[in-house]
Amino acid sequence: MRIVLLGAPGSGKGTQAELVGKRIGVPHIAAGDLLRAAVTEENELGRAAKQYMERGDLVPDGLVVEMIEKRMAARDCDRGFLLDGFPRNVAQAEVLDRILSDRREHLDHVMFLAVGREELLKRLNGRRRADDSEKTVRARLDVYEHETAPLCDYYESRGLLRRVDGEGCIEEILDRILAELRGS
Ligand code: AMP
Repeated sequence: MRIVLLGAPGSGKGTQAELVGKRIGVPHIAAGDLLRAAVTEENELGRAAKQYMERGDLVPDGLVVEMIEKRMAARDCDRGFLLDGFPRNVAQAEVLDRILSDRREHLDHVMFLAVGREELLKRLNGRRRADDSEKTVRARLDVYEHETAPLCDYYESRGLLRRVDGEGCIEEILDRILAELRGS
């Protein structure tokens, strides 16, 4: 099963992606986690990505695509994966389509976790991460609205998009996602 999970910062997509990945037995690939690990390691990717992440901007597509492509080439992705935080714009979605078609694979589902802006701000303001300062949170929400939200149209027009209500408790939301996956 090859799945993309879309959602705004604060939508709970990281939490849900991890849980869903475990339940259905595919690796959870979180672009933000991989980038944060690179920053901690202070490797070449981390040094290049750090400034963008601190501002709440997207890391340049070339760097992120290379990182994800490498991760997807690992053996554990042979039978599927759950992508979280990638793609983040239409250009990345187009590259993902190309990578998959080269592998003679395709996406099975794109899940969008829908959470209202007020709830997002409440959750983000209660969270403590290096890139969660008030200014960066606003920048990340703006980037999301301009770059990532259009992905819903991209996948909707391909008949892949499924919307899931992302408000409520963790278990409830997980059940909704699993029901969507089962119902297809
Ligand atoms: P996340 O943990 O998904 O919220 O990502 C944290 C930060 O990592 C983002 O604000 C971006 O700076 C960067 N990032 C994560 N995924 C991507 C991506 N697909 N493309 C570009 N930048 C990304």
